[in-house]
Amino acid sequence: MKNYQCRKCALVLQSASSPNSGTCPKGGSHSWEDIGKVGNLNYQCRKCAEALKSESSPNSGTCPKGGSHSWEKL
Ligand SMILES: [Zn+2]
Ligand SMILES: [Zn+2]
Repeated sequence: MKNYQCRKCALVLQSASSPNSGTCPKGGSHSWEDIGKVGNLNYQCRKCAEALKSESSPNSGTCPKGGSHSWEKL
């Protein structure tokens, strides 16, 4: 399983492969970005406070607060 996050609305989903595009609340369809494998470690972004479980430091991705996420291991 991997963590996927929409670049537009910041929704995070765990999925084995890229989720369906669906309907994004920000308009159009979701724009999924692979932010790494799901694991047992807890990470939180210092900027947007998004928390997720990951195998290792998640990919930087796109932070809704601007730029890329700044992950911190909890
Ligand atoms: Zn979206
Ligand atoms: Zn962030």
